[in-house]
Amino acid sequence: MAFETKEELLEKYMKMDKPKCPHCDVDMTLWEVPLFSFGDGLGWGTPYMFVCFNDDCPSYQKGWEHLGETMEAPASYRCYVEPGGKNFEYMPVFSPIGATGGKLDDEFLIREEAKKELMKQTFSILTDYYISKDWDEILKICLDSKIPPKARLKAAQMVGELGDADAAEHLINHKFPTPVLQDGVKKAIEQLHERHYTRECPFCAEIIKKRAKICKYCNKEVSRA
Ligand SMILES: [Zn+2]
Ligand SMILES: [Zn+2]
Repeated sequence: MAFETKEELLEKYMKMDKPKCPHCDVDMTLWEVPLFSFGDGLGWGTPYMFVCFNDDCPSYQKGWEHLGETMEAPASYRCYVEPGGKNFEYMPVFSPIGATGGKLDDEFLIREEAKKELMKQTFSILTDYYISKDWDEILKICLDSKIPPKARLKAAQMVGELGDADAAEHLINHKFPTPVLQDGVKKAIEQLHERHYTRECPFCAEIIKKRAKICKYCNKEVSRA
């Protein structure tokens, strides 16, 4: 079987029927495993689990009494199972909110679904604009803060390939939210300069011809790049 990315796994697990907790028969919640592991230190083996987060679960309630005798700090355990697995296991928690940070509840899943839908739409719109070489519209998508960074990165690459001489100007003074996107935009600007034989004036940052000796904006002498 081909190796699946974490993203692909999440997509698969989101579509799965939630297993029911064997102790309380309540639907278990999809849960992102933390970076640290407990016990043997071998890690979780999978990035997601289904966990019973029902506070009325008899197993979880009994845990407080049971572990209270053996551990120094108050503790209980939550029942969990690997997606698609049959082996129900237990992880320690030290308060009712223990481990809830990784909870991927229904609200989260709906948000994820909407994000993915927007991404799909944006990519097909980008493809259309790319085919018609409409870099102006692609640039708008690249600068739109409501668009997911991954799609904005794709847009930046397209602007680098298709953009006019003044496309770089729109990108230069814009703040982008992630280092990856910022880096992609930087590369697009370099590509635009490359394609149009331009560069930034070292004094006033206006875009000038690569071969210019004097900046036409600030009149300073600019050494040839
Ligand atoms: Zn339960
Ligand atoms: Zn200048």
